[in-house]
Amino acid sequence: MKNKYSFFTLLKNAFSYHENWGKAWRDPEPKKEYEAIIIGGGGHGLATAYYLAKKHNMRNIAVVEKGWIGGGNTGRNTTIIRSNYLWDASAGLYDHALKIWEGLSQELNYNVMFSQRGVMNLAHNLQDVRDLKRRTHANRLNGIDAIYLNTDEVKKFCPIINTSPDIRYPVLGGTLQRRAGTARHDAVAWGYARGADEMGVDIIQNCEVKGIKRNGNDVEGIETTKGFIKTKKIGVVAAGHSSVIASMAGLRLPLESKPLQALVSEPVKPIIDTVVMSNAVHAYVSQSDKGELVIGAGTDDYISYSQKGSHEIVEGTLSAILELYPIFSRMRMLRQWGGYC
Ligand SMILES: Cc1cc2nc3c(=O)[nH]c(=O)nc-3n(C[C@H](O)[C@H](O)[C@H](O)COP(=O)(O)OP(=O)(O)OC[C@H]3O[C@@H](n4cnc5c(N)ncnc54)[C@H](O)[C@@H]3O)c2cc1C
Repeated sequence: MKNKYSFFTLLKNAFSYHENWGKAWRDPEPKKEYEAIIIGGGGHGLATAYYLAKKHNMRNIAVVEKGWIGGGNTGRNTTIIRSNYLWDASAGLYDHALKIWEGLSQELNYNVMFSQRGVMNLAHNLQDVRDLKRRTHANRLNGIDAIYLNTDEVKKFCPIINTSPDIRYPVLGGTLQRRAGTARHDAVAWGYARGADEMGVDIIQNCEVKGIKRNGNDVEGIETTKGFIKTKKIGVVAAGHSSVIASMAGLRLPLESKPLQALVSEPVKPIIDTVVMSNAVHAYVSQSDKGELVIGAGTDDYISYSQKGSHEIVEGTLSAILELYPIFSRMRMLRQWGGYC
């Protein structure tokens, strides 16, 4: 890889509109049959394929994606990575993931821009204080590096937060996980895709799964927009569409999908060097490497597969953000989008 992208190759490609740029993964047509097929080319589907190939030596596998890889929630999230979850099982799972993130750029030889800048969760009422203290204790019992901060400590860690007691959502305290942070969300899809492809995994984009063929309790294959593909094993890793795909095999999953929104501002100089989350008002803020504020909002109340979401939710989030960070009051928002969870 190093020689392939030398300075001269970069220069040559810059003048030839990247005509000779080596592809990071192949673009194969589906084979007639695979040992296993992963449905969904997001971070989870691609990672599943990567580890099946790497750790379980399964090379005759494919990832089928109806659009482009990382085009679902993987490319739409606010990139926050943390493991400060309350329940033992969640804490265990997310901390295992956090440890993987800590070595992921080296593992994939691809910079996923993992930045352990800390994640703070704010408490705005007495119930939040109780919940966050309980969560901090539970986290520490699980070996997770969470600490509880009082209002002054919150202010010290992130000076631009308005800690006046007179605002609608006063800051009564918060938690901090220093090992938590952010990563470049597309890079994780691209890094896993490249790694999986190198081990022989076929990544098939623009290939929508339309049906699952069963024979009794066995799976025989999938119907796709690129034809029928035989397989006996399927991994459904389609996030909010998992229940739709499971229903193709006659399985009913107890899931509901709802739109979840995010937005980014115009880029500005570094102003916030951590991630601040506020579950009570559903507003999350961090700053991207380009300088944009990355803002996460809440979910809509209704079930939907739309990747938009309502204006009302964005308005609520932004009004909370302006109270908490008056310094942002004259910033312009650039883009808004939705995914589903
Ligand atoms: C606005 C927003 C903010 C978020 N913020 C955070 C955050 O800060 N931190 C965090 O940890 N999580 C966050 N999340 C959640 C996170 O994005 C998801 O948990 C994660 O991206 C899911 O990855 P995935 O690979 O499971 O799903 P996806 O990336 O959604 O991939 C599923 C893929 O399946 C494909 N697919 C669906 N149906 C079919 C079909 N019939 N045939 C073929 N392919 C199909 C889709 O096109 C899609 O690419 C956020 C989500 C949203 C929407």
